[in-house]
Amino acid sequence: MNSMRPIRNISELERAGLIDADQAISLEAVTERYAVALTPTVARLIDRTDPADPIARQFLPDMAELAVTPEERADPIGDHAHSPVEGIVHRYPDRVLLKAVHVCPVYCRFCFRREMVGPQGLGTLDGEALDAAFAYIRGHSEIWEVILTGGDPLVLSPRRLEEILRQLADIDHVKIVRFHTRVPVVDPLRIDAALIAALKASGKTIYVALHANHPRELTSEARAACARLVDAGIVLISQSVLLKGVNDDPDVLATLMKAFVETRVKPYYLHHPDLAPGTSHFRLTIAEGQAIVSALRGRISGLCQPTYILDIPGGHGKADIGKSSVREVSEGCYSISDYRGGEHVYPPDP
Ligand code: SF4
Repeated sequence: MNSMRPIRNISELERAGLIDADQAISLEAVTERYAVALTPTVARLIDRTDPADPIARQFLPDMAELAVTPEERADPIGDHAHSPVEGIVHRYPDRVLLKAVHVCPVYCRFCFRREMVGPQGLGTLDGEALDAAFAYIRGHSEIWEVILTGGDPLVLSPRRLEEILRQLADIDHVKIVRFHTRVPVVDPLRIDAALIAALKASGKTIYVALHANHPRELTSEARAACARLVDAGIVLISQSVLLKGVNDDPDVLATLMKAFVETRVKPYYLHHPDLAPGTSHFRLTIAEGQAIVSALRGRISGLCQPTYILDIPGGHGKADIGKSSVREVSEGCYSISDYRGGEHVYPPDP
């Protein structure tokens, strides 16, 4: 059975046939701690006959979330340490995050901001806080790019989005506005003419970073939503999280990256999972991740290659952790490894 309304609690999960009565009782402890939401699109995508379904694993609460390991932390990528005013994270000189909203259409079980998003999260910035955030951006001429994230900024109404973007329109040094979102995949019909007009209201160059982790998420409806954005002149890039039991397989990842490219979404980031509380069941080791990313290299076009990155815990920014294929063996002489693991001297012997 499929609900036509969003699913937001245990009894709705049970009514939709996504969990049974026994699970409903035990999972209360998880949902008291972390928010739950599935859109009808996501609920329909779940294969109820597959106990290891990669869509279910991303969105259905799991008892494993109650196991918090010592290295996990509430703010795994160190947002708070770089937040000069409410809603702004200024980690790198030329760009800021603007977290206008801490609500999402779905709550991913591995979310790196799971302690900040949801009904008990940090909420939505009010007018005064937004004014302070814009004043901060206006006062820092080095800010070239504003990244709306959260939460998912595309849950805001077109009217609210347009108000935000019209504020950015007046700030000359901001040239790029980027949105991080799951909406084209989890609620594709939301990408309509009104929302696209709002996204373009600043007159700036607009990028949308689409979050999807499994090729089944790129349904025909999701691809059509992306096409509406691209056809409107918005540039699409991807971001995915490398997740145990979801996409930790070179074939699955290759299919996902090819699906992005077919949809005119340029693969951008493949994130190593962050140390968010209760997410150790999703994490693989960096060596395992590097092996999967190396296997992608020989398998799919350069157009389809994402950069494998780690957000260094504590707010130290992103690092490219794809295995380096170059090693200096003597001064000016390198060993280069090919995608099959073969080693080649560079420059080659005369
Ligand atoms: S959509 Fe993004 S911010 Fe929201 S729960 Fe998923 S990962 Fe977290």
